[in-house]
Amino acid sequence: MNGGSSALRALPSVDYLMNLERTQPMAVSYGRDSVIDEVKKQLNNLRTEILAGPVLDANRDQLADRVMSQTQTELLRLFSPSLQPVINLTGVILHTNLGRAPYPQEAIDAMVRVAGSATNLEYQLATGKRGRRDDHVEHWICRLTGAEAATTVNNNAAAVLLVLNTLAKKKEVIVSRGELIEIGGSFRMPAIMKKASCKLREVGTTNRTHLKDYRQAITKKTAALMKVHTSNYEIKGFNQSVTAQDLAVLCKEFDLPLIDDLGSGSLIDLAPYGLGTERTAREAINEGVDIITFSGDKLLGGPQCGIIAGKKSLIEQIDKNPMKRAMRLDKITLAALEAVLKLYTQPEQLAEKLPALRVLSRLPESIRESAQQLQKLLQTKLPSEVTTSIETCQSQIGSGALPTRTIKSFAVKVTPTQSYSAEYLAGAFRKLGVPVIGRIKNDCLWFDCRSLESGEAIKASMQQLPALL
Ligand SMILES: *Cc1c(COP(=O)(O)O)cnc(C)c1O
Repeated sequence: MNGGSSALRALPSVDYLMNLERTQPMAVSYGRDSVIDEVKKQLNNLRTEILAGPVLDANRDQLADRVMSQTQTELLRLFSPSLQPVINLTGVILHTNLGRAPYPQEAIDAMVRVAGSATNLEYQLATGKRGRRDDHVEHWICRLTGAEAATTVNNNAAAVLLVLNTLAKKKEVIVSRGELIEIGGSFRMPAIMKKASCKLREVGTTNRTHLKDYRQAITKKTAALMKVHTSNYEIKGFNQSVTAQDLAVLCKEFDLPLIDDLGSGSLIDLAPYGLGTERTAREAINEGVDIITFSGDKLLGGPQCGIIAGKKSLIEQIDKNPMKRAMRLDKITLAALEAVLKLYTQPEQLAEKLPALRVLSRLPESIRESAQQLQKLLQTKLPSEVTTSIETCQSQIGSGALPTRTIKSFAVKVTPTQSYSAEYLAGAFRKLGVPVIGRIKNDCLWFDCRSLESGEAIKASMQQLPALL
């Protein structure tokens, strides 16, 4: 008889393991069924290991100990939050995969205030009658954009879909070929049109579209003209596009609505913050656009949502579309959005209070100081053979806002060695309690310090680094 089969016979049963004293606190913390599932999994693993591996001579208590230790470790991992904070040192500030804009404290407080209780979400406290959830934010959106009315949905993709489906169902929408965008995550304008049950009528060429191209395409089937912000690219050179003002005049002549998907949609002029010129929502409305749509979590720096603003009669139609019900915002997002919009009424404090803008407008000198602090910290935590240096780099705004614009920043560059490759090092930083996400460029690991406003979180997290290398 070999040790393998005796170990197999010594394997404890699920019942035996579930009745052990040390199992009881696990059952209380995680629920009995979860513990049973994990015990079964670990018993199976151990059985496979015994059958495949070298002779294992162990008695029942030793085997039980192994199974229960592994069960404990796995349950702890399984029940720790899946969605967790990370430190974004990628250099892409509004990183879609990393959750875009961090919220200002005012928004966090507002969310917490309404999360745990009943609210007046759709209830008018003055009259006791039913209210409209968008009333909590509509007047702020109107004040900040100059629009007559506004409504909100889950994100800007939903906003575009809802607007098109409401205003152009089974009809044609005229768009310039130079604006048929694809942005990440399978948002393609032609596909969105199809899903909204409208027909895309492309006009012009990739680089040039003229007013007469739009005019010639208008027929009885036309429901709207649309402009789309070319968020993630720019056409340079021999190019021509038609301004919203000119399109607005044309639309008036034919009594058609002009829709403008602004993408990021800034509420303020970003030039004073060194961020180039992005057309603001107010400018679009002033130019005669009937309906604008934009994201809440791009340059606006707030929660994920889509904002639709413009003519009151059109907003009323949009609100009545049954699709709106499937896209509406919850109380938490509305609370956050209300708080963020309010910050915009005091633009002079915005760069201090709104994290997205604060980080994007940070002065290079202050970023260099953060980089120097991070470098010092890394030198005490990384193996001595791994070298670091301070380098200039370019941050990107991200999320398709101002695509060709980069802003000067400073990074800590970690140069790998034979035994510590850039991928290996990046993996160790991702395993930290608060994972630190960098970027690999030219085989080195770069940490752009623009988003690193305070060293405290990273300092605490970095204590574990040596153990992970
Ligand atoms: C980002 C973007 C969208 C999609 O917005 P989400 O809020 O990410 O859904 C739509 N249109 C344009 C032009 C964009 O830039």
